[in-house]
Amino acid sequence: MAQSKVNTICWVKRLGVILILIFCLLLGLTAEESSNEVETVNENKETKKVMKTEEEWKAQLTSEEFRILRKAGTERPNGKIYQEFKEHGAGVYFCIGCDTELFSSNEKFDSHCGWPSFFDPSQVKNVKTSVDYLLGYPRTEVLCAVCDGHLGHVFTGEGFDTPTDKRYCINGTVLRFRPKAEDVDGNGSSSN
Ligand SMILES: [Zn+2]
Repeated sequence: MAQSKVNTICWVKRLGVILILIFCLLLGLTAEESSNEVETVNENKETKKVMKTEEEWKAQLTSEEFRILRKAGTERPNGKIYQEFKEHGAGVYFCIGCDTELFSSNEKFDSHCGWPSFFDPSQVKNVKTSVDYLLGYPRTEVLCAVCDGHLGHVFTGEGFDTPTDKRYCINGTVLRFRPKAEDVDGNGSSSN
């Protein structure tokens, strides 16, 4: 009788320990989940980087897009893409590499240089600059801040009648245009 009582107490103790272990495990999992949530929120606040290997970029892009975006190339001025760019109405320009918003029709202006021109990015945090010496003198290169893709160059003080006196001279090849959505109630007017 006494022996079975001792056994029962022993089992109750073991069961208690098991329950505590399960409780701790669940607590740990919950804590991990909530810390993951915090991480995701932080990532969304900051600009997430897109990094790919050269082979992955080659698979995703056309050879012309790859040459310009990944190898700092320049498209032919006054080409088909530039003609199409001039005909675009209101809308937004996204990076061909990572689909990040870079410019919009609000900052577009005609500089007559043969390449798409903007006086400012539409999303400043998505566009970064760095100085290059590819032509033997310093030029300010414009890059996508998310995938580090080459977009073009920015020139200042050229006297254009724009709010910034800057000309973001961008390769249309690396921009994906999306027209502004039509007004739902149908009273939107065409910009042309
Ligand atoms: Zn990009």
